[in-house]
Amino acid sequence: MILGIHHVTAIAEDAQKNVDFYVKVLGLRMIKKTVNFDDPGVYHLYYGDGVGTPGTLMTFFVYRQIRQGVRGQGETVSVTFEVPVGSLDRWRERLARLGVTFGEEEIFGKRVVWALDPVGLRIELEEVAESTKMDVWSGSTVPAEDAIRTIRRVTVAPFQVSEGNQPVRRSEELFTELFGWEPIARDSHESETRGSGFRERFRAGVSEVDVLRDPSLGRRLNSAGTIHHIAFRNADSESQEAWLATLLRNGVHTTPVQERNYFRSIYFREPGGVLFEFATDGPGFLIDETYETLGQNLMLPPQVEDLREQLNEVLQEIDLS
Ligand code: ZN
Repeated sequence: MILGIHHVTAIAEDAQKNVDFYVKVLGLRMIKKTVNFDDPGVYHLYYGDGVGTPGTLMTFFVYRQIRQGVRGQGETVSVTFEVPVGSLDRWRERLARLGVTFGEEEIFGKRVVWALDPVGLRIELEEVAESTKMDVWSGSTVPAEDAIRTIRRVTVAPFQVSEGNQPVRRSEELFTELFGWEPIARDSHESETRGSGFRERFRAGVSEVDVLRDPSLGRRLNSAGTIHHIAFRNADSESQEAWLATLLRNGVHTTPVQERNYFRSIYFREPGGVLFEFATDGPGFLIDETYETLGQNLMLPPQVEDLREQLNEVLQEIDLS
């Protein structure tokens, strides 16, 4: 079973601006300051609730001086955080006061406040009545009654492929038939110039996934300000091994299990081109730091520990205060 969203990983360009937005504007806690295990000259910054509960995690690879990405087909186009009922107007005031570009729209009859991070990544806030279990961080600059709780949803825009007049919907087939995700809402929209599109919502464990079929979206360019991949929760390694076998048996090309220190992962592209990861819930972020000191020091996996001195020279200094 897929328990829900585990984390969302996006691309940033400046570590300090990234911290200033996710910690100081959104009020998340920096949970881990580490490097991209596959490219150790690059930061991998993790934000989440007080302890980094799976489902609350937003993470970034920070590539200096890279070009601006383009949001488009073949990737995840937005991430929606859940906030308490009654907090959206205060969030609007906060975003305005802090000079953030934001706006509002209605999706499936619910208010969604969207905001752009320093490199134009679109995040969304939506009020949700029932509180998801998480660890409210007492050090947050956002008052607890307004605090972001968890990632409610991701919106993916698979590549459009059609046979005759019918769009091929292999992504949706994978989600319902193999993953067991249940469709819960669907909306069509007409565009005068580019034909019609639609949004369909699926329940994915405790989270939701929207599939956006919007012909007016061009092809993605995965760079600064776009989402690199989305990860879903496997309860443990045993469940992950079972998923690995199931995916391979169903023709989904999947990487072997990768050791990510704080969890274990497999990666694959869904049929619409969006990069997916399955990550285990454990062992979590307290394996190398205490609760009090989470995110404060550069933590390295054993295989790059001997590069620490060089990394300290090339990695940007970050002020968390
Ligand atoms: Zn990941």
